[in-house]
Amino acid sequence: MMVHGQKGFKFQNWAKTYGCSPEMYFQPTCVEEVRQVLDLARKQNKRVKAVGGGHSPSDIACTDGFMIHMGKMNRILKVDKEKRQVTVEAGIFLMDLNVELRKYGLALSNLGAVSDVTAAGVIGTGTHNTGIKHGILATQVVALTLMTAAGTIMECSETSNAELFKASQVHLGSLGIILTITIQCVPQFHLREISFPSTLKEVLDNLDSHLKKSEYFRFLWFPHSDNVSVIYQDHTNKPPISAANWFWNYAIGFYLLEFLLWISTFLPFLVHWINRFFFWLLYTSKMENRNISYKILNYECRFKQHVQDWAIPIEKTAEALLELKTMLESHPNVVAHFPVEVRFVKGDNILLSPCFQRNSCYVNIIMYRPYGKDVPRLDYWLAYERIMKGVGGRPHWAKAHNCTRKDFEKMYPSFQKFCALREKLDPTGMFLNASLEKVFF
Ligand SMILES: Cc1cc2nc3c(=O)[nH]c(=O)nc-3n(C[C@H](O)[C@H](O)[C@H](O)COP(=O)(O)OP(=O)(O)OC[C@H]3O[C@@H](n4cnc5c(N)ncnc54)[C@H](O)[C@@H]3O)c2cc1C
Repeated sequence: MMVHGQKGFKFQNWAKTYGCSPEMYFQPTCVEEVRQVLDLARKQNKRVKAVGGGHSPSDIACTDGFMIHMGKMNRILKVDKEKRQVTVEAGIFLMDLNVELRKYGLALSNLGAVSDVTAAGVIGTGTHNTGIKHGILATQVVALTLMTAAGTIMECSETSNAELFKASQVHLGSLGIILTITIQCVPQFHLREISFPSTLKEVLDNLDSHLKKSEYFRFLWFPHSDNVSVIYQDHTNKPPISAANWFWNYAIGFYLLEFLLWISTFLPFLVHWINRFFFWLLYTSKMENRNISYKILNYECRFKQHVQDWAIPIEKTAEALLELKTMLESHPNVVAHFPVEVRFVKGDNILLSPCFQRNSCYVNIIMYRPYGKDVPRLDYWLAYERIMKGVGGRPHWAKAHNCTRKDFEKMYPSFQKFCALREKLDPTGMFLNASLEKVFF
């Protein structure tokens, strides 16, 4: 059967910050149909972009050529109970995989904030969460297959096409269409989350101790104040409990916040007050939640937003955050929405991983878009980026940044190696788009 392409499809990412109108939109259901799309693209000299959950805040998944939505290639192909490994089609959503793995007594050892994203999508952009014993999500991958621009299927692992494997673990959608992924799982587990208030000074002074105390430690800093909410997540055998409360979480923490942030678009100085007020309302008491791992590792990201999220060497955490704080104090007109989310990730050896060869601290800043309205952020964005660059940071591949090839060559010791592999696999640039041109040219 010939795969059917749809004309007139409009794509928008989750945050509605980027969209595109691909010339043709395909939803293949099997490898043969992916091959047909690539054959057609080669014949017609078209560019191709796969899309997963469309959650990337940047335009990395956009194209005006052929778009391949991978959502129908979402089956579990094999579960190796002995090795605790699962092989999946690359378009599987992690929220479906989490539920399926539970049936086998297995789980993913770490997840990002949301699970309505696909296996190939999260590894493609170096998605991470927190836990200094845990790498980015791509470090859970033990093998994968991809179809190159020529239509060849490459099997990659530590022992087969090892160099390509290290490149394709964070592939940026630039090496080919990822078809299957084998993931190392862990036995199913439950987590206990406790969150409690602190100050930026206390957390930075005692960073090592916090990192030792909790397996999945992260903290939220409320800019324009010293306030911090510390979050510990650790294994537990105790039964689930939930501190969730619709009134506080949604009526206040979502709807009232969105309304006040919208008001603050007319009166920007209100943001200082909003950050303090919401900390006082929602984050000053100790909270406890317990549940199966994925229900604790995933968390609410509220409404649409712009984000930047750079990985810096972990030893630069205090220097970078204090510089950001000083910048905000000395420029009261620069406003910063809460939270600045600070997470910690183990170093790895994946060529384009922001944590390549170093334990890292990710500093995630956001500016919400209340009711879809953009709030001026240029000064905040540029100052943050200058500070992150100054301490040797590397930007998240799916989020905003102003870096170009020159920057990446300095940031990544293996950048040239990745480029050489990409050019060999895709000499005509079939898998490029505007976003990747900024990276590779
Ligand atoms: C609410 C929200 C919360 C988030 N939380 C986190 C977080 O906690 N940590 C974090 O690091 N990031 C986070 N992100 C970013 C998100 O994890 C990444 O953008 C991730 O890549 C999204 O996965 P996706 O399936 O939506 O991929 P998409 O955005 O659809 O695609 C991402 C990239 O992968 C490519 N791609 C997808 N499928 C394939 C395939 N089969 N073959 C080849 N290339 C492919 C695309 O072309 C694109 O380049 C968050 C984003 C949102 C909107």
